Amino acid sequence: MNILKFGGTSVGSAQSISALMDILKKETGVENPIVVLSAMGGVTNTLLLMAENARSGADYADQLKEIETKHFEVIRALLPAGAQNPVLTKLKIYFNELEDILQSVYTLRELSLQTKDLILSYGERCSNVMVSHIARQYFANSVYVDGAELIKTDGNFGQAKVNTQLTETLIRDFYESNKDKLLFVTGFISSNEDGRVTTLGRGGSDYTAAIWGAALNAEEIQIWTDVDGMLTADPRIVKKAFSLPELSYIEAMELSYFGAKVIYPPTMTPAFLKKIPIVIKNTFNVDFPGTYIKHGAQASSLPIKGISSIDEISILNLSGSGMVGKAGFSGRLFSLLSREQVNVVLITQSSSEHSITFAVKPTDALKALALISKEFELELQARKLEYPEVENGLSILAIVGENMKRTPGISGRLFSALGRNGVNIRAIAQGSSEYNISVILSRADLSKAVNAVHDAFYSDLKKTLNIFCLGTGNIGKTLFQQLQNQMPFLAKNNDLQVKVMGVSNTRKMYLNPDGIDLTTWENVLEEQGDKADLGEFIKQMKNMNLANCVFVDNTASHNPIQFYLDVLQSSISVVTCNKIGNSAEYDQYVAFKEAARKHGVEFYYETNVGAGLPIIRTLKDLMLSGDRIASIEAILSGTISYIFNNFKGDRLFHEVVKEAQDLGYTEPDPRDDLNGKDFMRKMLILARDAGYALEEKDVAIESMLPAACLAANSVADFYQEMEKNAAHFENLKQEAAKNNKVLRYIGKLEDGKVSITLQMVDDSHPFYMLSGSDNIISFITDRYKERPLVVKGPGAGAEVTAAGVFADIINVGKR
Ligand code: ADP
Ligand code: ASP
Ligand code: MG
Repeated sequence: MNILKFGGTSVGSAQSISALMDILKKETGVENPIVVLSAMGGVTNTLLLMAENARSGADYADQLKEIETKHFEVIRALLPAGAQNPVLTKLKIYFNELEDILQSVYTLRELSLQTKDLILSYGERCSNVMVSHIARQYFANSVYVDGAELIKTDGNFGQAKVNTQLTETLIRDFYESNKDKLLFVTGFISSNEDGRVTTLGRGGSDYTAAIWGAALNAEEIQIWTDVDGMLTADPRIVKKAFSLPELSYIEAMELSYFGAKVIYPPTMTPAFLKKIPIVIKNTFNVDFPGTYIKHGAQASSLPIKGISSIDEISILNLSGSGMVGKAGFSGRLFSLLSREQVNVVLITQSSSEHSITFAVKPTDALKALALISKEFELELQARKLEYPEVENGLSILAIVGENMKRTPGISGRLFSALGRNGVNIRAIAQGSSEYNISVILSRADLSKAVNAVHDAFYSDLKKTLNIFCLGTGNIGKTLFQQLQNQMPFLAKNNDLQVKVMGVSNTRKMYLNPDGIDLTTWENVLEEQGDKADLGEFIKQMKNMNLANCVFVDNTASHNPIQFYLDVLQSSISVVTCNKIGNSAEYDQYVAFKEAARKHGVEFYYETNVGAGLPIIRTLKDLMLSGDRIASIEAILSGTISYIFNNFKGDRLFHEVVKEAQDLGYTEPDPRDDLNGKDFMRKMLILARDAGYALEEKDVAIESMLPAACLAANSVADFYQEMEKNAAHFENLKQEAAKNNKVLRYIGKLEDGKVSITLQMVDDSHPFYMLSGSDNIISFITDRYKERPLVVKGPGAGAEVTAAGVFADIINVGKR
């Protein structure tokens, strides 16, 4: 025989009750199952609210009406008109009783725990009366059972303790004489010796099912709910949480104790003692096998079973010399708290015994404080104990699993995932059983923390990178295209998912916590975006507080740079193709790197030099592996390369520049390329990466333009000046040609000095053969002495630059 318990959502609407009936049709065979039902979804909370309202003299009539309507609507939907009256009458009687009780509370402005339990009991009673009547259409032997009479408890209202022996006898006797019936038993409610209604604690219907299961030696205790069993994490927090096929009782207990609401922790005890498996199943996905909690649950290959969390917790810290070496201090503290029914969720003690931190529900915090002040009055007065303070706004995150016991490195993985994402840990506790490690952290960080830890432990799942992108010009646009094309490959081969969470250009910005569809982003930004505000964009990005976050700067603007530090300090990685930040003051360049290191995030800027070519990375690898850079020689302006490579025959210089501009090889303002500034920035960044603390003024630039061109006030002027100075350029061209040489604008780093000069090189020079808009860089190092290490290829263009940014993003995902 099986026990089938249906939770609030499974009896929450006409539709779900129909689904429940279908399940019963399959389950009723030779032996009838026993059905345990909760109150309709949300009703217990509403009852509680009404009780509190009545106590404080507020109105509760609307809520009462709401509950009534909720039930009546279901009855009208699921019972033919002729069969409705008896059940409507029965419920009406309940609602009248309830109203009388609430009226008394209202009059007296007094709400005892006993009265509260009585009020709450109507939730389960109404739902069971209602559903048992509806069931009679299919199962004539359906009867309503007031479970409160059969589960006997002490008088601890709100969280009563079960008298197991008496309860089991009562249940067995009752069952013996009702075997032929289909029983609908109220969950959650019980009664004390005097017959007063008590309750088993919030979520207690699960426990009712286990109590019945144990009393009757059921084959299975089935918990029907609205999710596919126990998942690796709360699905409301972690979208990627997945269902666990099997758990041991202890694992299920630990997960639920630390917040996995899907099953009430005490449920496990009766089932464990009688070795009855508990199955958690989904009423709305009947064929899914769900989760089995049982003896000999199969060991899984995953290092942890699940992550759970308690949303709101307060901590109290007790410290002082009076505690050191005083045997019995913690005994006194915790027996006081337990005597006064303050539930201590977690305890940590420093090894010096100088302080104890413990966590309680926020509603218990002030009570605990008052109790401690009284109990330790003398110690506090003598200053042997510091006056404890309550700290609110905290949460607990716990990782749970039996495998943790045998696997080293679990806590390392936990803490590094939290650290990398900038989550500050307030306290740590590891259960001595090693079935769980729990940490206390700020509530604002909880969602990010659970997601980061989930990603860290279930690495065979896809890791998600959440990216926020500035700039929708050529590079930004191309990056989105590449991302979209590459998604399936990444998911398959890299276990990586890249989600664009925010995008902004200079006019509009749009952020969406569900991610932005890359097929429609342009329209969405235009139509749903807000007016662009970079500070606000960054603020919202930070407020989303997501794990594995990357800020991508695809602009060439000064504005974003001022935010880099703040972003890095918020544990968000930065990927940028914008050279301005790294080539401004040296101190700022260093500050970016330090901030990234300190906060465990990445600062990648491969595309600052040579677009997608692996230049920065190569230099870094050389240095990290202990090589010494003797000199670097480079042509790093794709624009200038193109111009010189095409400045041939009878073509004029300004014509070639115009052509380069028309082909998109120049910055919007070609002066930015030709004045050598862009090249200077790249050389400066390279020199800094090679270990030299240089500033812009330290780079000696030999201009390739006559002074008049440099002084031009506008682009049009600039072209005019080049045309006027055509003879200057002609001379250069002819002189080079005469000597079988070509013109090259070459940057050099040697002995810590950087220069950029216009040179004429012959075919013995490695840069002679450069074609198109290619970049070339040659490193001479201790290891590459005889022949340099050369990187060469296209060093400009949206396609290759976006690809470089893309690679940087993927590299963030690899850490
Ligand atoms: P019922 O009304 O059926 O008793 P509950 O609301 O008490 O249902 O519990 C089910 C809910 O528990 C789910 O809807 C889910 O949001 C939440 N939950 C939290 N943690 C977990 C977890 N680890 N696995 C499954 N569900 C979880
Ligand atoms: N209805 C009760 C509650 O909401 C018991 C339960 O749902 O298990 O806490
Ligand atoms: Mg529940």
